[in-house]
Amino acid sequence: MIRFTGVSKFYGDFQVLKSVDFEAMSGERIVVCGPSGSGKSTLIRCINGLESYEQGEITVDGQRLGKDAAALRKVRNQVGMVFQQFNLFPHLTVLENLTLGPIRARKMSSGEARDLAMRYLERVRIPEQADKYPRQLSGGQQQRVAIARSLCMEPRIMLFDEPTSALDPEMITEVLDVMVELAGTGMTMIVVTHEMGFARKVADRMVFMDHGEIVETAAPGEFFTAPKSQRCRDFLDKIL
Ligand code: ATP
Ligand code: MG
Repeated sequence: MIRFTGVSKFYGDFQVLKSVDFEAMSGERIVVCGPSGSGKSTLIRCINGLESYEQGEITVDGQRLGKDAAALRKVRNQVGMVFQQFNLFPHLTVLENLTLGPIRARKMSSGEARDLAMRYLERVRIPEQADKYPRQLSGGQQQRVAIARSLCMEPRIMLFDEPTSALDPEMITEVLDVMVELAGTGMTMIVVTHEMGFARKVADRMVFMDHGEIVETAAPGEFFTAPKSQRCRDFLDKIL
């Protein structure tokens, strides 16, 4: 469903992705980890066209991501993304944050959008916060709103870029629990995180990046107990 073939990306002379080959099947849950600056965010931002690339090919559901604006739109409609900083609209209520996309992009009536939004707010367990503004919520609640907002677009793929790393420790679990549940629904998920407990629980596959390369990819059991490369062993020693 997602396929990278020999993808390279440059910032001037600096090569941030080095001939990356990568594939994710429908329904697969992939956790991406690696040192800071290794290219994890860049990799997943390429999947919904937030980053361009210079060499190779990326396809999502057969649509080639490149200069074709129509293909890009199609892909973006299917791919939701959740960031470290929740990126909610501060001047809109929680409910308005959720209904904006469905009304504007999916041409829903406000009533339909509201029903949909409430369904997803229940899914992330904060329906009672619907009429508050983001600043009135805790970080964990804001991140759950951000997840619900993405889900309101009914994407087929969800990308998460370190969704819990801006959170106080006591709020991490409530967000991870929502993500574990989402994984249970069969959603295709690509998650950049260093939460290895989460990875062990839900990942079908681990991807380890270093210096713009995918150095290693393996099932979690194998990845955590018998990493093949020294670079990966060093990394795991630091974070586990
Ligand atoms: P982190 O764990 O810190 O989030 P990362 O693995 O997500 O790191 P990226 O954000 O993908 O890494 O960045 C990879 C490399 O590309 C880094 O060395 C970064 O400095 C560089 N980089 C990212 N964005 C730009 C940019 N706009 N211009 C120049 N270099 C950039
Ligand atoms: Mg990053």
